[in-house]
Amino acid sequence: MDFELSKELTALKKEVRAFAEEKIRPMADQLDKEARFPRELFAEMGKRGYLGLPFSEEYGGKGMGTLAYMTAAEEIARVSLGVALSYVATISIGTEPIARYGSPEQKEKFLRPLAEGRELAAFGLTEKTAGSDAKGIEMTAEKVGDDYILNGTKQWITNANYASIITVAAITGYKPSGEKIISAIIVPMDTAGITVTSPYDKMGARSSDTGEITFKNVRVPKENLLGQETDGLKQLLNVLNGGRISIAAISVGLAQDAFDKALRHSGERVQFDGPIRQFESVQFKLADMLTETEAARLLVQRASLLKDSGETYIKEAAMAKVFASETATKNANRAMQILGGTGYMRPAQVERLIRDAKILEIGEGTSEIQRLVIARQLFKEEGENK
Ligand SMILES: Cc1cc2nc3c(=O)[nH]c(=O)nc-3n(C[C@H](O)[C@H](O)[C@H](O)COP(=O)(O)OP(=O)(O)OC[C@H]3O[C@@H](n4cnc5c(N)ncnc54)[C@H](O)[C@@H]3O)c2cc1C
Repeated sequence: MDFELSKELTALKKEVRAFAEEKIRPMADQLDKEARFPRELFAEMGKRGYLGLPFSEEYGGKGMGTLAYMTAAEEIARVSLGVALSYVATISIGTEPIARYGSPEQKEKFLRPLAEGRELAAFGLTEKTAGSDAKGIEMTAEKVGDDYILNGTKQWITNANYASIITVAAITGYKPSGEKIISAIIVPMDTAGITVTSPYDKMGARSSDTGEITFKNVRVPKENLLGQETDGLKQLLNVLNGGRISIAAISVGLAQDAFDKALRHSGERVQFDGPIRQFESVQFKLADMLTETEAARLLVQRASLLKDSGETYIKEAAMAKVFASETATKNANRAMQILGGTGYMRPAQVERLIRDAKILEIGEGTSEIQRLVIARQLFKEEGENK
């Protein structure tokens, strides 16, 4: 076992950190304040190859694998969770369905511009009636001749206003039992009948774009179906399993930033004739922050390596997500406590961490759903080992 990153990944980490510190950090607060999505930063990340890190070189990606991508995601989240959320959404849930399940033609047409970093992608599962319960969707895709005609509304969709394509979950029919047949269909966002609005005022991750997308008689060719009609739900849930590793990675980035800020302040702030790190209560907080951040990073790394080796990683991805996201929230709160009143003021950038962290425990499956997934996998493995 090797607990060190390879030379290649160490160099990537250093490069992304320098980019994030130089280009993203100076504007992170302003983006948060204005709730502005920095499309120009994504253009630059695209040129640098960051949007194609895990995808095959055959289709314009960097072919560096999941761990490289998670290493970059962590570094971006260390400076802006909002930017990082859009970054992992375009890769893990926007582009991944096509990379994983697309035909060679679909990959050439849709994956290449995404992996080359020229375009962004979105993923549309959530609707008013379908949050944790994906089967609650009402959006339909009716087959008419050689086309599907889509009708419905997707809510809270990351990158909705900037994506060139979205992969949506839609009902294409019913089984004899009455159960919905849920299919995954690629929809170019410039197709007639699509309307995007941004009716949300978010608590955190404000520089990430979030929109509502309405589909009214949107016609796409049947060639845009991913795999078989009956595969859709399984494909999308598999994609979310991978997406969870990336939410865990950006949680580690935020947790690390909170720790760094708390550590620095504990050495600078003097009370009772010495820096506040002289107090055991501050030391214990710092010790817990560092321990849990490093544990979360190891969980991310293990899930990433399992994914790349083609092994099952459902339980490990859920464990990484629930532990890392809860660590991010805890560290943001601990950092605020160590910074005291200074942390309560916006310039210290700690109140933003508290607002940003919460989405990590909700998006791509809440903490409760992660625990359900872990328990189900646990019982399944127990059954298999009997
Ligand atoms: C900023 C943001 C960006 C998002 N981006 C996207 C996107 O790009 N694409 C997309 O498709 N979706 C997106 N989502 C939706 C997100 O994935 C959902 O919010 C999430 O899956 C939870 O669904 P919900 O919010 O409807 O909560 P609900 O499902 O209504 O859950 C509410 C509460 O009930 C609990 N609960 C529900 N079912 C169970 C159960 N079986 N057992 C125990 N507890 C349960 C939950 O854990 C939670 O505490 C986004 C959401 C936000 C806020």
